[in-house]
Amino acid sequence: MTTLEEPAAPTGLRIDIPGFRGELVAPGDPGYDDARSVYNGAIDRHPRIIARCVDTADVMAAVTLARTRGLTIAVRGGGHNAGGLGVWDDAVVVDLSAMHSVHVDPAERLVRVEGGAVWADVDHATHPFGLAVPSGWVSSTGVGGLTLGGGIGYLARQFGLTIDCLLAADLVLADGTLVTADADRHPDLFWALRGGGGNFGVVTSFVFRGQPVRDVVAGPMMFDIKRTGEVLRAYDRLLAETPDTLSGWFGFFEVPPAEDFPAELHRRTVAAIMWCYNGPAADVPALLAPMRALEPLLDGVGEMPWPALQSIFDPLLPAGMQWYWRTDFVDELTDDAIAIHVDYGSRLPTPLSTMHLYPVDGAAQRVGADETAYAHRQARYAQVIVGVDPDPANLEPMTEWARAYHDALHPHSAGGGYVNMMMDDEGPDRVRASYRENFERLIDVKRRYDPDNAFHVNQNLSPDEAVR
Ligand SMILES: Cc1cc2nc3c(=O)[nH]c(=O)nc-3n(C[C@H](O)[C@H](O)[C@H](O)COP(=O)(O)OP(=O)(O)OC[C@H]3O[C@@H](n4cnc5c(N)ncnc54)[C@H](O)[C@@H]3O)c2cc1C
Repeated sequence: MTTLEEPAAPTGLRIDIPGFRGELVAPGDPGYDDARSVYNGAIDRHPRIIARCVDTADVMAAVTLARTRGLTIAVRGGGHNAGGLGVWDDAVVVDLSAMHSVHVDPAERLVRVEGGAVWADVDHATHPFGLAVPSGWVSSTGVGGLTLGGGIGYLARQFGLTIDCLLAADLVLADGTLVTADADRHPDLFWALRGGGGNFGVVTSFVFRGQPVRDVVAGPMMFDIKRTGEVLRAYDRLLAETPDTLSGWFGFFEVPPAEDFPAELHRRTVAAIMWCYNGPAADVPALLAPMRALEPLLDGVGEMPWPALQSIFDPLLPAGMQWYWRTDFVDELTDDAIAIHVDYGSRLPTPLSTMHLYPVDGAAQRVGADETAYAHRQARYAQVIVGVDPDPANLEPMTEWARAYHDALHPHSAGGGYVNMMMDDEGPDRVRASYRENFERLIDVKRRYDPDNAFHVNQNLSPDEAVR
């Protein structure tokens, strides 16, 4: 992100929030540029004020202030959204990053997480009790955004999406009041929160059911990029037949010149699968035999604690790089789609650019499409094509590559996409297609809980949206 010299705001115009206990950061303040930066370094937005909340009362005060003055509200959880939806020009940013505590009740397997925590906070707190909440694959991602959009990760086949383990949420509504949504209280709102993103309010805390996970058998298998087609077919077949306790995402990967990898693989682009098995290690040889028969160039599968797997990519993906991505859901990996992967996967625009296929079958598929707002329960994979690089000069070529790859593949997809992996400018039709048959009900809930669309810096469900 470029550092701009901000003129100090005239004192008379500085926003104050009565009774606010956290920190208010405005243009001209020394920490302003840090406070407005998010994970994607390509995002360069200038909010009116950043309200770093320390508790629910602060969140209520910040929302009320913004509403009273008619200001745009942006809500920042972990700040990971590639479209930069945690920050907005001229907005009041309700920054939850100081609200990251986690409380575990091991007897009931309940995990209460504040709205600004990241997954590393959760893993740290739950691991000593042999518990985990299904999350993603990078531990610095925010619990807030990831959960509200669905939550796809290694444990989705065994325990479902993150929302499938969500029991309740406390949230501040557009009128500044706090409610608890769960199966009995505001059940429609609870339904909508599970996939509907930040459209309904600011979640100050989530309650999850922790799942039994301690050590897992996990790690990468890497294959010659020329064998992409063969590997993808074998992977797809294996997942269809294997128990839900085994999962793993497929991705292209340029091997970094690090001592963890054999020198002959350094800087080589490979087709990789990042496996995770949550069960006895003795099962793994038989389960992975079909993939090992393909003679991977590297087989790094071994036992590791769950938090080690969750943080394995963190050093490779620090905050501040340029990101652009495009997403789809995939019902079936057809030969035509595989041919497109072979083509674009062999010409990644930058070393970190990639395509990932995340399995969302198993337990995630056994939840009905109308049971939560997340609608693509029929899909076998969520797919994301990602351009990543530290150098802003590479943003344009990698964006072009990602768009062209996506344009070629989209006709082979299930329509819509995973809302958490959309950019900020994909438009209402993409959002509508992502929610399929749940769209009308979501608009109905939105009209009841946020009729003025106070929460619109998200994959927006506008209350004015015509229901077809
Ligand atoms: C490196 C990387 C890896 C990822 N891996 C995965 C993965 O494995 N699985 C997966 O499912 N997703 C993954 N994602 C996508 C991720 O789920 C989204 O980017 C998500 O929006 C991040 O949430 P956040 O809280 O960090 O983001 P933010 O940018 O802070 O917020 C994103 C959106 O969520 C809203 N929001 C956040 N917190 C709250 C809250 N407490 N209350 C109300 N609204 C809130 C914001 O208003 C905004 O609209 C990944 C993203 C990155 C960059």
